[in-house]
Amino acid sequence: MAKKHSEDSGVICSFCGRSEKSVKLLMGGMYGFICDECAAQANEYAKEQLAQKSKAVAGKELKLLKPKEITEFLDQFVIGQEEAKKFLSVAVYNHYKRINYLASGKGNSKAKSDSADESLDLEKSNILLVGPTGTGKTLLAKSIAKMLNVPFAIVDATVLTEAGYVGEDVETILTRLLQEADYDVELAQRGIVFIDEIDKIARKSDNPSITRDVSGEGVQQAMLKLLEGNVVNVPPQGGRKHPDQKMIAVDTTNILFICGGAFEGIERKIAQRLNTQVVGYGAQKKTEHIDKKDLLKYVAPQDLKSYGLIPEIIGRLPVLTYLHPLTKEALLDILVKPKNAIVKQYEKLFEMDGVKLTIEQEVLEFIVDTAIEYNLGARGLRSICEAIMLDAMYTAPSEKKKTLVIRLPYAKEKVAKFTGSLIS
Ligand code: ADP
Repeated sequence: MAKKHSEDSGVICSFCGRSEKSVKLLMGGMYGFICDECAAQANEYAKEQLAQKSKAVAGKELKLLKPKEITEFLDQFVIGQEEAKKFLSVAVYNHYKRINYLASGKGNSKAKSDSADESLDLEKSNILLVGPTGTGKTLLAKSIAKMLNVPFAIVDATVLTEAGYVGEDVETILTRLLQEADYDVELAQRGIVFIDEIDKIARKSDNPSITRDVSGEGVQQAMLKLLEGNVVNVPPQGGRKHPDQKMIAVDTTNILFICGGAFEGIERKIAQRLNTQVVGYGAQKKTEHIDKKDLLKYVAPQDLKSYGLIPEIIGRLPVLTYLHPLTKEALLDILVKPKNAIVKQYEKLFEMDGVKLTIEQEVLEFIVDTAIEYNLGARGLRSICEAIMLDAMYTAPSEKKKTLVIRLPYAKEKVAKFTGSLIS
């Protein structure tokens, strides 16, 4: 404990060596003494060092790859989805350029000067990914976060409800981000939030007054506050806000929001629009071939509006892009190509037991065909592989075999049990 020595007892400040008489205050700890001046200096020094440290962290984060390099990075983890990768790469690149620009003081309105360039406001561009479930929306967002080394939170829009109703307040989206940032507000304010299933908060009917729509338009209105860039009071532990809870103010201006949704059935809205558009604006497109199997690629803001998103939300998600359904080739690639491909993971696991694993090509094709047949998509690949590999993973560690080859009849036998359980 610190204590003041009232008389000169021969003790000196362990830092400057001055005696008790020559200083205002000498405080004693368990291992020595410190005078008031040295304590003040130490305090200043600590502040400086901490500030430098967080600047260094920030500097590291903002060292950003160019859009093409971002795509190349994403290619390591995500198969196909070229359009989405391109849009994301440009949006993320611009977003972080914007943060650098603001950090330099140019975009700050207080620092505005007469020069046209310096008064320019670079606007934030949140992203909306539309695509069937299991095609890589979350994976894209996660991979981006990996590259940027910023806090990244995934939240599910389905749990959100209008304030005052059962469910979570929209602000809890930021609670997750704060938790990811270890409650470092500065860091969280530059993070990325992926809001999944945004389509689930679409307005349920055209006339919101007929039924109460607590998880629809009301949530969209609340979410708008976040997307626009505002200072929002966030409950640090999440859950419902209550009056005694101490809130943390988080500025969402520089938080990048990536929203994703399957928008099931939106193809109908797209088709309707494309049909009615033949006259007028779209007339020149008349001769253009419309790919009816992949209508999502024509998705436009007005389709989202017909689907039930309010125009203000659509306006705050200016980067709109889509993901393709995964083809057989893409699924095959997903099994073996990504940096942490499922097959590579099994190979590694067996290698750790000194076993060289080979899965024959026809087995891989069989896995993909099964995923397609049972409509399991990319997410199903792992469960099918697990069904095939389980017994081998059980016995291999106790056996002396150095190699293991998985052949088609064996795989078929294991998968039969698995698909049997899917049907029953
Ligand atoms: P969603 O589009 O529903 O967000 P996810 O990104 O969560 O889908 O995909 C589920 C899983 O499927 C991923 O974790 C990944 O293993 C696999 N996957 C889906 N799409 C791809 C893809 N394009 N490239 C590589 N893996 C993919």
